[in-house]
Amino acid sequence: MTVELDPHSGFCGGVIRAIGRAERFLDAHPGGCLYSLGEVVHNEAELRRLGARGLVTLSSEDLEQMAAPATGETLLIRAHGEPPGTYALARKQGFEVIDCTCPVVLEIQKNIREAYVRLQQGPDAGRLLIFGKIGHAEVLGLVGQVDGDALVVEDCAQAEALFANGTLQSDTRLELFSQTTMSPDAYEQLIALVSAHMTDPQRLTVHRTICSQVASRHRELSEFALQHDVVVFVSGRESSNGRVLCALCKAVNIRTHHISAPDELQRIWFHADDRVGVCGATSTPLWLLEEVAARIKDLQ
Ligand code: SF4
Repeated sequence: MTVELDPHSGFCGGVIRAIGRAERFLDAHPGGCLYSLGEVVHNEAELRRLGARGLVTLSSEDLEQMAAPATGETLLIRAHGEPPGTYALARKQGFEVIDCTCPVVLEIQKNIREAYVRLQQGPDAGRLLIFGKIGHAEVLGLVGQVDGDALVVEDCAQAEALFANGTLQSDTRLELFSQTTMSPDAYEQLIALVSAHMTDPQRLTVHRTICSQVASRHRELSEFALQHDVVVFVSGRESSNGRVLCALCKAVNIRTHHISAPDELQRIWFHADDRVGVCGATSTPLWLLEEVAARIKDLQ
């Protein structure tokens, strides 16, 4: 059995940046702590490592319901970004804010605000349509740029329903965006469906906002999964990107297994002469992939 690591797996640039800033803060404040609003990365093992260094995860409810002001404490905004109201609330609760919103997400937030202004101009107001996971932090941050006045769909069926129930009409002016970590193929299908409904294609503006790192990983990962007999995909259970990328591997390689930690590996998944590929999501640390690869070799 041979075991190979996907050379393109590991954290994306936005996560590397957020974790780097958290570590630099903790290095500069020995014995102190840094609060993160939501998980800085959707990976339990990496969160345990950072937690041991002083990173504490707060939920939005924790932030809203704080009993005493957090004067002198620091709150990190993770790569997904947040709506403007979160920054105001954090400061009201006494936090200093370190904003680690990924520059790619910041650019999309700005473009959504500008699109919204455009859509309000003219005799007939248009609509913003966002392709993303309903309730996902990045999507909440995007929708929050326009006070929630945007439609969110997770798939073509939900978009179809908006046309069927009259929320969207064939002459509605539309600007379409995507969450950065959605499947590029699924976004193309949605674009085709929406375009087919429009009587005037000029009234639809499509913004190709899937992160280029995610898009290229889709292509590379498909090839990687095809080249191996067995694929072990490593990501946190909460990672939206992890679910999408693991499904992509499964679509081309039925012997794909999703784990979040080396303890979940099972000997029966492997045969003596298998070529095993180990890969992960944009939120999976390289050290964890290396640990999984080493544990598979130990199973022989
Ligand atoms: S997936 Fe892309 S957009 Fe999202 S945090 Fe990572 S680098 Fe930024």
